[in-house]
Amino acid sequence: MNGKDDVCSVLCIHPEKVAKFNDGQIPEMGKLAELFKVLGDETRTKILYILSKEEMCVCDLASVLNATVSNVSHHLRLLRGAALVRYRKEGKVVYYTLDDHHVINLIKEGLEHLAHRG
Ligand SMILES: [Zn+2]
Repeated sequence: MNGKDDVCSVLCIHPEKVAKFNDGQIPEMGKLAELFKVLGDETRTKILYILSKEEMCVCDLASVLNATVSNVSHHLRLLRGAALVRYRKEGKVVYYTLDDHHVINLIKEGLEHLAHRG
């Protein structure tokens, strides 16, 4: 054991496995990292969770989060930039929803993973 049981105790490269991943040049991973960076903020995960339950206007979101409209709109802009949310205008009110079912699944899967791992 000696506290190192989480790594191989010999150097053992498996060439057929290594070759599959093209020297670590994996397309789309930079974009995926950017997506997770946008997700890596508690206010934004709260906004996404709320929007997974209910379409909401910016003022209502600010009220639920006990934040200012300008703070919430800053976060919404980042979420929009990552195509995680979209909005529609109804007169003077701007309503936000999650962009599509993929975003709902991101939130749902994340929460289910946390719940079953305790
Ligand atoms: Zn999608």
